[in-house]
Amino acid sequence: MRVVVLLGAPGAGKGTQAPILAERLHLPHVATGDLFRAAVRDGSPVGIEARRYMERGQLVPDSITVKMLLERLAQPDAADGVILDGFPRNRAQAVSLDEALTERGAIVDRAISIDVPPEELVERMSGRWVCRESGHVYNERTNPPREAGRCDLDGTALVQREDDKAETIRARLALTLASLAEVSQHYASRAILHSVDGRQSIEAVTADLVEALSGDPRSAGIA
Ligand code: AMP
Repeated sequence: MRVVVLLGAPGAGKGTQAPILAERLHLPHVATGDLFRAAVRDGSPVGIEARRYMERGQLVPDSITVKMLLERLAQPDAADGVILDGFPRNRAQAVSLDEALTERGAIVDRAISIDVPPEELVERMSGRWVCRESGHVYNERTNPPREAGRCDLDGTALVQREDDKAETIRARLALTLASLAEVSQHYASRAILHSVDGRQSIEAVTADLVEALSGDPRSAGIA
């Protein structure tokens, strides 16, 4: 089982890069944010609980998040591995993941952090639009759809997520950067953390991610 953790603040480009990597590595892209949004849409108990936190730009409690993630990892399509996006978000989640993987004789193969300065993140996220249907991500400035307000891939209307409004973004960012540093440190201490400059073009970031994923996890490029 190959487990790759993609790290980055909201707006760093994880949502754009993870599906590209998933296709290249033939592994499912598992984003806890997507799982929560699906749960909210379905009106499931997890969704009803998670919504209260998501609307305020806060993290959903670890107990709910970890349980949901582990259920997803137990699905047959995740047997060979996954690309994790948006999880772990703090040290406790990272430890829970390690423990769950150890039980299966697996480990996190590597963690890659897509780094973007905070002020650029706020700017990027204020311009973020997603399609209602599948959550495909666009950005007014850096990655616009071919036709304004419409998804290139499935033609549905693009909307701005409630938690992508400017005030929510700042609250979310402050919270995220602190816990992200904890998570990076967790993987750095195992010498499996790589960093990629997220200010580059989408293609250049993909190329750096692919390079970080090739070869020995403990070789060059360690942050
Ligand atoms: P995202 O799409 O990754 O930005 O996630 C959207 C929202 O889902 C976050 O603001 C949190 O409320 C919740 N969420 C996603 N992943 C996690 C996680 N690993 N831990 C706690 N809450 C999460």
